[in-house]
Amino acid sequence: MSHHIVHVAVPVPLRQIFDYLAPAAMLTSLQPGVRVRVSFGRRSLIGVVCDIHNTSTLPQGHLKLIEEVLDQEPALTPALFKLAQFASTYYFHPIGEVLAQALPVALRHGDPVEAEPDLRWRPTPLGMLLAKESLQRAPRQMAALQLLRDDPQGISREFAQVFGITTRDLATLVKRGWAEVYEHEEPQGLPSAQLAQPALPASQEQKLAIERVLNTTGFQTFLLEGITGSGKTEVYLQIIAEVLQRGRQALVLVPEISLTPQTVARFQHRFRCPVVSLHSGLSDKERMNAWRRARHGQAGIIIGTRSALFTPMRHPGIIILDEEHDASFKQAEGFKYHARDLAIVRARIENIPILLGSATPSLESLHNALRSRYVHLRLKQRSNHASLPVFHRVDLRQKKLDEGLAPETLERIQRHLKQNRQVLVFVNRRGYAPVILCHDCGWRVPCPHCSTLPTLHKAEACILCHHCGFRQPIPLRCTSCGSRDLRPLGVGTERLQGVLERHFPNFPLWRIDRDAVRNQRALQKVMDDVHRNEPGLLLGTQMLAKGHHFAAVGLVVIVDADSGLFSADFRGPERCVQMIEQVAGRAGRAGQAGEVLLQTHEPEHPLLTTLLTQGYSALARQLLEERRSLQLPPWSYQALLHAQSNQREATLEFLKQVHDITTEASPYGPIMAPIEKKAGLFRAHLLLQSTKRADLHTALERLNGPDAPLLPDRVRWWLDVDPQDLL
Ligand code: ADP
Ligand code: ZN
Ligand code: ZN
Repeated sequence: MSHHIVHVAVPVPLRQIFDYLAPAAMLTSLQPGVRVRVSFGRRSLIGVVCDIHNTSTLPQGHLKLIEEVLDQEPALTPALFKLAQFASTYYFHPIGEVLAQALPVALRHGDPVEAEPDLRWRPTPLGMLLAKESLQRAPRQMAALQLLRDDPQGISREFAQVFGITTRDLATLVKRGWAEVYEHEEPQGLPSAQLAQPALPASQEQKLAIERVLNTTGFQTFLLEGITGSGKTEVYLQIIAEVLQRGRQALVLVPEISLTPQTVARFQHRFRCPVVSLHSGLSDKERMNAWRRARHGQAGIIIGTRSALFTPMRHPGIIILDEEHDASFKQAEGFKYHARDLAIVRARIENIPILLGSATPSLESLHNALRSRYVHLRLKQRSNHASLPVFHRVDLRQKKLDEGLAPETLERIQRHLKQNRQVLVFVNRRGYAPVILCHDCGWRVPCPHCSTLPTLHKAEACILCHHCGFRQPIPLRCTSCGSRDLRPLGVGTERLQGVLERHFPNFPLWRIDRDAVRNQRALQKVMDDVHRNEPGLLLGTQMLAKGHHFAAVGLVVIVDADSGLFSADFRGPERCVQMIEQVAGRAGRAGQAGEVLLQTHEPEHPLLTTLLTQGYSALARQLLEERRSLQLPPWSYQALLHAQSNQREATLEFLKQVHDITTEASPYGPIMAPIEKKAGLFRAHLLLQSTKRADLHTALERLNGPDAPLLPDRVRWWLDVDPQDLL
């Protein structure tokens, strides 16, 4: 009997696909993107078909048969299949794992692509009229019938279950002619393009941007650089309205949906069409439902975070990626892709436009815009007559600080509260203090497992390492000299809460960080309070900085503007000014001019000076020039080879050997990582860099080639292409 050879990508960390046999009868349903069940080693795994061939390099007798074909139609649409293949090559990540990531969890576990029929029960006219007395001796049937009568539109099995009614009860009613079962169908066809809420009259700048995007056909990348509050979201909404009008769907990617329910609500309120939002709070089943509605074209708008990039669309119309500079678009673990970069590739494959938006574009995107690879669109004015906030530097040198706050800062807070405004106090650290210092000898309490300093958390009476999660009791004595004079150094949100409550006891304080606000509901509750717009203090970490619209905030205080200026990572300054600009952008968004106080020990720092006198846009161009002179990205391309083990020398030695075979990409290192030890493991880096991507790629290929060094026991390594984090 003739068999065909099928190449299957299996979700294992091997950069390889595997051959299986398929009997001719199976062949009709096999095509790229279809899921199959295969035996792999001693396990049974779900893989994805990549290719079908007549020959194999292995003798056929050694090959196993495919056990089961799971899909009639490819689970991965051709566009997404192509995207995954591209990503696997580009990021040097095993294709099996990439393909698995591109599928919702339920599909990875073998659930069907098509939903089971959605059955509903409703009463028949007979059931509606039936006299209750006739069911007196059958209380269960009576309860079931009553439930149906209350809801004659029809109810689902799950709904009935909530009331203790089983499918069996419902079946009895059907048998007796009192109820009928039918299949509920979502309305098919294109989502409605009607607006539920009228669009705002677009400003001249907005109009220009909207028209530019809508007048392109096919693939094109746009960068919308618009200051905070300039109405970028309004631009997205109006573009989407037209895309829907044309019978197409929009995919909107945002950094962290859970933090910005407001944004999702804005989309939902504007349109009548179904908007699905894919966030971490969904169950696998809900996610699968959303995925299906996108795949069938029923959802007009799909909003999601990074991984929503892989949501299929029946009628793709546009991709919009908001806050494109945000670091959360890069996946930090496992398959280390950048959703922005892959979204652009997807748009090219689907031949649709993609719009990247930010008030503080990444230098990568700005570079592409300045070199005309992207169309550069700008919004330079705030909408809604709001004016830009005024910045002031607060020179901290030689000032007597009250737990990190200068007297003039406290004074200014007082003034704004008295004028019935809200004040936002930003510090990028949670906990009480980031360091515990011996005042006698200068020793700092270390984490026993990392080369970092753990943070003091006062309320929980512990010190906690934010890198490995290790918790220990607060030490009473210095390990080095035995002194009892241990002092907390630096400020976190917890410490600031204390000092602010002491100074402003008559005003509410809303603390927003991961310790104070642990879930979506808690956040929503705080936000509801804040949005009442009564005077009070908002205190928090970057959870506060992203995308929120606080109408009543008149003053923003950045407690430590210097923290990012002296980072070991060359992106430190870029990140620091983006953060300042984003946090500052929360001030004065509704009418009254806002103020921003930057507390700094470096008031003359050129970065701060440029930011304050010329703005982010000018500063970003200056940083870009600096990168050019150092030949750093985006003027060159990097890949970081990370290795770690419990042995320092073995780790370095392995990277040294890699160094010797990757000379095309001028390898730098190996060096110990800036955070040298984490969770008990030594971490080392080899940084590859080239001005030509092809050279970088050639060098990386060597890792799979015949000269690749043998991996010593217990050393683990991975690659990060276009790394965003060098720590
Ligand atoms: P961004 O996304 O750039 O931060 P938003 O789209 O959130 O800006 O707009 C900021 C505020 O300005 C919002 O309250 C929005 O309703 C309002 N706004 C945006 N565009 C207009 C417009 N054309 N006319 C009036 N108000 C507008
Ligand atoms: Zn000491
Ligand atoms: Zn630690």
